[in-house]
Amino acid sequence: MGIYFSPLLCSQEPAAPNEIERMKAKYAVEHSIADMTPTVCAAAGIRSPKTAGANKIDAVLTGIAEDFEGRSAEKVFIYCGDCIGDILLQNHPEDFEACLREADSVILSTNVMKTVTPVCFATIFCGAGPEVHGIKVYEKPVVRAETLFDVFLEAGKKVAIISQAGNSVITIFRERNIDYLDFPTDEEAYEKSLQALKENDYDLIVLHDCEYDTIMHQFGTESEKAAKAHRTVLDRWLNVVKATDEAWKNYDRLVLFVSDHGSHTPDGSSNGVHGMDIRDDAVVNHFYRWRAGQGK
Ligand SMILES: [Zn+2]
Repeated sequence: MGIYFSPLLCSQEPAAPNEIERMKAKYAVEHSIADMTPTVCAAAGIRSPKTAGANKIDAVLTGIAEDFEGRSAEKVFIYCGDCIGDILLQNHPEDFEACLREADSVILSTNVMKTVTPVCFATIFCGAGPEVHGIKVYEKPVVRAETLFDVFLEAGKKVAIISQAGNSVITIFRERNIDYLDFPTDEEAYEKSLQALKENDYDLIVLHDCEYDTIMHQFGTESEKAAKAHRTVLDRWLNVVKATDEAWKNYDRLVLFVSDHGSHTPDGSSNGVHGMDIRDDAVVNHFYRWRAGQGK
């Protein structure tokens, strides 16, 4: 006789909602940061990672299919703007005007708990939540779940991750056939990404820019220094867009600005923080911008 599992007993245990769905429901936001991976994979004509459970963004893919006349994106640049929450856009709409004009699609998205960088970028590049990739707190182990990087490499794409040394993205996606280009500062990493574009070395470039995150932790989210830092990050993205229009003009191309989490300054504090399950930390925007190659 085997052990008898009562179907009634099983159905009485409420299934824990997965973290992505819980956050989408809590903040009444249709999309999750995890939607990026299946969306970019579909745009590039590449399969999604096996454990990616997030949704493709139809509005983005329909626009791309029209403008590329059914072709796939050949080149992709993903600008990881750390800590640029929707709250920044709400508080400083004038600073985002140029970016919003440049973007073909802006996707309001929730992240997952804990709202810190390695948890959120693992979610973004796996297209799945912490239950799948395993990072639930601020730690930087190598992610073993299949990622956007793995399926791009499988498809024969050449990939670079460019970052200040030691930051999350360049650390948790190690041990892959990726060029890991690290630098002492965010600015040097950004400059390298422009050079890599000029030299047309890569099919996928991921740049991680933590300038705003670093400054807002030190001086608070509404400090003059933090405002200057978020403007710097947004200006860099606009320059990257311009650089892709030159270097990749003959390619069908996709340029994103994706953020991991927002932040807030607690009452009476002069330091910015994040990591809580509150709207300021949990809701971000992802910008998608695409252009067909010249003469295609
Ligand atoms: Zn931070």
